Amino acid sequence: MTDEERAFYYFEGQEGVKARLFANENPFGPSEKAIAAITNSLKDSYMYPFDERAELQRKIAAYEGVSEDFILLGSGSTQLLMAAGVAFGMKGGEIVISHPTFDSLPKYAEGVGGKLVKVEVDSGLKQQLGKMADAVNGKTSLVYTVNPMNPTGTQVSGKEMRDFCNSVSDKAPVFVDEAYIDYHPEGLKASTISCVQQGKNVIVCKTFSKVHGFAGLRVGYCVAKPDLLAKMKPFSTGGFDLSRPAVLAATASVDDKAFLSMSVQQTEESKQLLYKGLKAVGANVIPSFTNFAMFPIDMNGSTFLSRMKEKGVLVRSWNFKNQDWCRVSIGRKDEMEAFNKALAQVV
Ligand code: PLP
Repeated sequence: MTDEERAFYYFEGQEGVKARLFANENPFGPSEKAIAAITNSLKDSYMYPFDERAELQRKIAAYEGVSEDFILLGSGSTQLLMAAGVAFGMKGGEIVISHPTFDSLPKYAEGVGGKLVKVEVDSGLKQQLGKMADAVNGKTSLVYTVNPMNPTGTQVSGKEMRDFCNSVSDKAPVFVDEAYIDYHPEGLKASTISCVQQGKNVIVCKTFSKVHGFAGLRVGYCVAKPDLLAKMKPFSTGGFDLSRPAVLAATASVDDKAFLSMSVQQTEESKQLLYKGLKAVGANVIPSFTNFAMFPIDMNGSTFLSRMKEKGVLVRSWNFKNQDWCRVSIGRKDEMEAFNKALAQVV
């Protein structure tokens, strides 16, 4: 691991950590059912989970209202973002993105010679879908959008995103990263899955890492027409990517509605606690529709991170629009209290 990677992932000094709020993890998961499935799977984990993986694929297809050949599984959504970045970025493919955005797919695309066409977010840090649509031309190989958006925490309505997908996807495929869709104020109704169901050139990507609390287990999936998935498949690891515990845990968790709404509710309660702490120091938080929030800071981002880290609180910083920003993930209530206390001392 390089020094840069070590600094980013904060592997040093974990013993003094009071609040781990830098990676948008969800400490309210995994569910009891998922944990029981993992425990039960261990003795059989010498076997590849062929049938079990197929069962997970069937269950996800039923959950999303599509047939099984519309689902591509991955060990977390990062693997699928890589497959799409490579498939659509190679041979100089042009990818329209928002700036800032979650940079995984764009980085993989650039790594194989793809070109990024960046459209700035507006003054409220919302992605400008109209301008993104205007940026699409004959050379565009993919449009990548995230709703709700990381790192800004902003959202666009389900209708706005579906209208965008329906019109733009006639010109180029649209990849909608819905990692945080369960936290959207409209919930799953904000999803663009219906565009896929209607046969549009749309790839919806979801992960178990957020609302299901599976960041360390690694399960994600894409939903799209088989011809679009076929472009990504050569760059995905196929049947050998998911571990047996992860497959069985995801199968137990995928449609566990009671757990999912508890997870969203707990996040909301912690978020209100965070907002209280931010208000107390006069921070102008960008209203968040995810399990993290962003606010401007009046000091250099890395200085801010080090000062918060000295107090046992791990967060992240960005610089865009000539401004340093802190992104803080929503954790347990005790973590938000530790964050609020540290923030009041640091600012
Ligand atoms: N997409 C978005 C928008 C994210 O914020 C993240 C992680 O934070 C991911 C995808 C990748 O998540 P994972 O690889 O854990 O599924």
